[in-house]
Amino acid sequence: MTDPAGITPEQKMQFLFQLRQKGVMDSRVLTAMEKTDRGAFVRGHFATRAYEDMPLPISSGQTISQPSVVGLMTQALDVQPRDTVLEIGTGSGYQAAILSQLARRVYTIDRHRNLTREAEVVFTRLGLVNVTVLTRDGSFGLPDQGPFDRILVTAAAEDPPGPLMQQLKVGGVMVVPVGQSDTVQSLIKVTRNDAGFDYEEIMPVRFVPLMEGIARD
Ligand code: SAH
Repeated sequence: MTDPAGITPEQKMQFLFQLRQKGVMDSRVLTAMEKTDRGAFVRGHFATRAYEDMPLPISSGQTISQPSVVGLMTQALDVQPRDTVLEIGTGSGYQAAILSQLARRVYTIDRHRNLTREAEVVFTRLGLVNVTVLTRDGSFGLPDQGPFDRILVTAAAEDPPGPLMQQLKVGGVMVVPVGQSDTVQSLIKVTRNDAGFDYEEIMPVRFVPLMEGIARD
């Protein structure tokens, strides 16, 4: 992937500085984020703010997450080069584009066809050939493609969805925001071992809820 177009070296330095300041230390994650032009995933006049550390609106009333949160989630997921990764909540496709540089293969799914269609266009334009985008209800995962080494959920569930737990390999990791309300959520790291699952709380977060079914758009 080429360098982000249209941003100054100062903007890029500031972007990386903010990521480090918020705790993104993994050099592979920082390199992947440095190479991924967030501006390619944001439409209209918000594109000028793509290098600020804030969430921004995208189509279908959804949001592209804050870069530092993307960085911290990716870091917690600890993706290895041979991994197959499932992402629930394609949104703009920004997170999937970062994962595609760290993993062998990425499946990303969203319930809005509008979003998956737009994301696919950007992946093609950027030459990201190891990402597959599908329109599905992500709560059920992708049983035909699993089990997965890593699963990243970018919408908040009340509990980690059962089908996703089942589609995690032994030794695999799932990172998922969990919470009963829109305001109080925790990012949880779930690791599957021979006997069951280990849970680790990472940080408080705020994501849109994981919704049931496929959306109309
Ligand atoms: N990862 C995205 C941001 C995700 S926003 C990015 O990098 O831009 C959360 C996304 O989760 C929204 O696009 C929403 O449509 C999607 N979503 C919510 N519930 C879902 C479900 N059950 N299945 C699939 N996608 C879902």
